[in-house]
Amino acid sequence: MYTYRQQELVEPDWRRFPGWKDVTVQQWRDVQWQRAHCVKTVRQLRAVTGDLVGDAFFADLVRDQTTSATMSMLLTPQLINTMAPHTPPDDESLRADPVRRYMMPIASDRRTDWPSHPYASRDSLHEAEMWVTEGLTHRYPTKVLAEVVPTCPQYCGHCTRMDLVGPSTPGVDKYRFALRPADRLARILDYLRATPTVRDVVVSGGDVANLPWPHLEDFLTRLLTIESVRDIRLASKALVGLPQHWLVPSTVAGIERIAAIAAKRGVSVAMHTHANAASQVTPLVAEASRTMLAAGLRDVRNQGVLLAGVNDTPQALLDLCFALLNEASVTPYYFYLCDVIPQAEHWRLPLHRAQSLQDAIMGYLPGFATPRLVCDVPYAGKRWVHQVVSYDRVRGISTWAKEFRGPFDEADDAERRYEYVDPIHTLPAEGRLWWTEQTNQPQPPALTGAR
Ligand code: SF4
Repeated sequence: MYTYRQQELVEPDWRRFPGWKDVTVQQWRDVQWQRAHCVKTVRQLRAVTGDLVGDAFFADLVRDQTTSATMSMLLTPQLINTMAPHTPPDDESLRADPVRRYMMPIASDRRTDWPSHPYASRDSLHEAEMWVTEGLTHRYPTKVLAEVVPTCPQYCGHCTRMDLVGPSTPGVDKYRFALRPADRLARILDYLRATPTVRDVVVSGGDVANLPWPHLEDFLTRLLTIESVRDIRLASKALVGLPQHWLVPSTVAGIERIAAIAAKRGVSVAMHTHANAASQVTPLVAEASRTMLAAGLRDVRNQGVLLAGVNDTPQALLDLCFALLNEASVTPYYFYLCDVIPQAEHWRLPLHRAQSLQDAIMGYLPGFATPRLVCDVPYAGKRWVHQVVSYDRVRGISTWAKEFRGPFDEADDAERRYEYVDPIHTLPAEGRLWWTEQTNQPQPPALTGAR
């Protein structure tokens, strides 16, 4: 049972960190100061936390970065300030903090039995297989995903595009775009001009906040000349991780220009962001979101990821949704099950947990702001968690169907079944044993969706 209480947002006091004890409000609101003081190394983090955090925590962090991390460390001060927000941070509060858990993974978070699922893969949604030109995934009949930049102002530990996004880590040598950025964007626009069946373009990456605004504005202006494009969604976690970016007056003026062109053409331009914990929704985040709406964006929506130890209770999900909706005018939209990428098993939830969470959060939020919990099923696309066709709870294999036919689908694909797999450590003993036996075989059994 959830008890609703309206909570006023409070910006945690960054001066509780010894390294930021003299940082002024003006500096904190300055995007250049935020970018210049991002934490990329353990040494920089130590300089921020001073003696509050002990060596054991940093050793745990180093161990993760050198052995398991699929993403480099890159944390804005804004994000770090939402970790252990109400106390001077120490080992214990940092270890337990939901934002720390997904933005700054440590080795002891990860599972030692099944750290990766046997079916985990770097591009688990096979997006690159569906590129029609480099960086443009055409999976659904009427919508595309344009990866316009392969970097972000912050890197999330569980990033589903870990194959492409950010610098390489000791464990993951990242894919690099081959085309020059200007050529890549030009080819994306050429494809869209030649493909009038596409009406909806997700402009993503990476994070669009890392494309210099004049380049992004130029791309969006050209996109808005394509008659068939009716919906544009800008993907930016920076609204939460670096809200200062979306408060820069020249950027806001640019959003106003884009929104004015879109309004004239009757095109909807929205922003999609990514908050996973209520503590991330601070007054600055709310200010940035409302500034985007005042500048003319049609909506700001949240696409979170369901993560164990972060937001896997009805209370955590509803607190987050109400913080977004009440205080920041952000519409809760989706929560995705974490994709089956390497080193993610400690974050992933089984499908049945997502189904229970979906049921538990019904009836509190307005219908338009009740998020759908979805599973992004490889080759099948986003499916609502209750759309599952069959579900073997012992082996943790769910099967799914899809009705649409995308450009890469074959005529008989409507008859196909596609699989998603639960984390093995959540299965009953019989299921765990089955997977152990399977993975001792030279070739794991093929999933039917795989080609
Ligand atoms: S902001 Fe998005 S693209 Fe960037 S690391 Fe996080 S999840 Fe990945």
